[in-house]
Amino acid sequence: MFTELEDEYRSYLLHIGCVFFAASFLDMKEAFIILYVLLQLISTEFQSELKLLSLFLSFFDTGLRFFLRTLQNIFMKVGSQKVVSLTYELRKKDATGELIQKLESDHPFVYLFGVGGLLPKFEESLSGLEAGNEFSFDLSAKEGYGEQNAEAIVDLDKKIFEIDGKIDEELLQLGNQITMQDQNGNPLDGIVMEISDDKVKMDFNHPLAGMDLHFSGTILEVREATAEELDHGHVHGDHGHQH
Ligand SMILES: [Zn+2]
Repeated sequence: MFTELEDEYRSYLLHIGCVFFAASFLDMKEAFIILYVLLQLISTEFQSELKLLSLFLSFFDTGLRFFLRTLQNIFMKVGSQKVVSLTYELRKKDATGELIQKLESDHPFVYLFGVGGLLPKFEESLSGLEAGNEFSFDLSAKEGYGEQNAEAIVDLDKKIFEIDGKIDEELLQLGNQITMQDQNGNPLDGIVMEISDDKVKMDFNHPLAGMDLHFSGTILEVREATAEELDHGHVHGDHGHQH
C-alpha cells in the first residue's frame, strides 16, 4: 500500500529516469529532448513543486551536456581516434596544377583518423587543425603514391582475357582500367597499355604513382569517434558505413 504522495513521487522519479535515459541514448538528438521537456513544462498542469523540480533537473542536465558537447566539438583538434569531415581539392604538382579530384561540402571526405589507410603525410599535415581551419600542402611522389615501378608493368597472355574462348573486345581496349587478381586473390586495378596478337601490356601502378601532388581544403567538423567506430575501424552514419 502506497500513500497518494508516495505514488506521485514514484511517477516523478520515473519521469526523471525516462528523460535521463532518453538523453543518454539519443546522443546528438539532445536538442529534441530539451524541446520535449519545454513542451512538458508548457502543456502539463504541474501542480506539485516536485514535478517542477524534476522537469527543471532534466532540462538542466540535458542542456548542460548538450552545451558541453557543442563546446568540446568546436575546439576539438584533428588527431588519432577523431572522426574528421573535410573538403579537399587534389591537384597535380602545385596549387595551379591540373585538378585531379574535388570533394565539396555536400559530399565531404569523412574519415576516422589514426587507423591507417590515409597517406601518412596527409594525416600529419592535418593533425592539430580545428573545424573551420583551411589547409594547403604538397606531397612529393614518394610521400604520395610512390614512384612508378617498372615491375608493375607486365606483359600478360591475351588468353587471360578470354571468356568462353572469346576476347571481350569491349573490355580489352587501350586505356581501359581492368580489375584483376594477384597471386593471393587480392583485387588489382591495371590500365591496358598495349595490345598485340597474343600479349597485353598492363600497368598496375597506382594511377597517381610518380606524381607530385597538392592538397588544399577546409576542415568541416571534428568529433570524437564512438566506441563502435573504433572497434570497427571506420566511420558510421551519414557519410560512413551504413550497417
Ligand atoms: Zn562498422
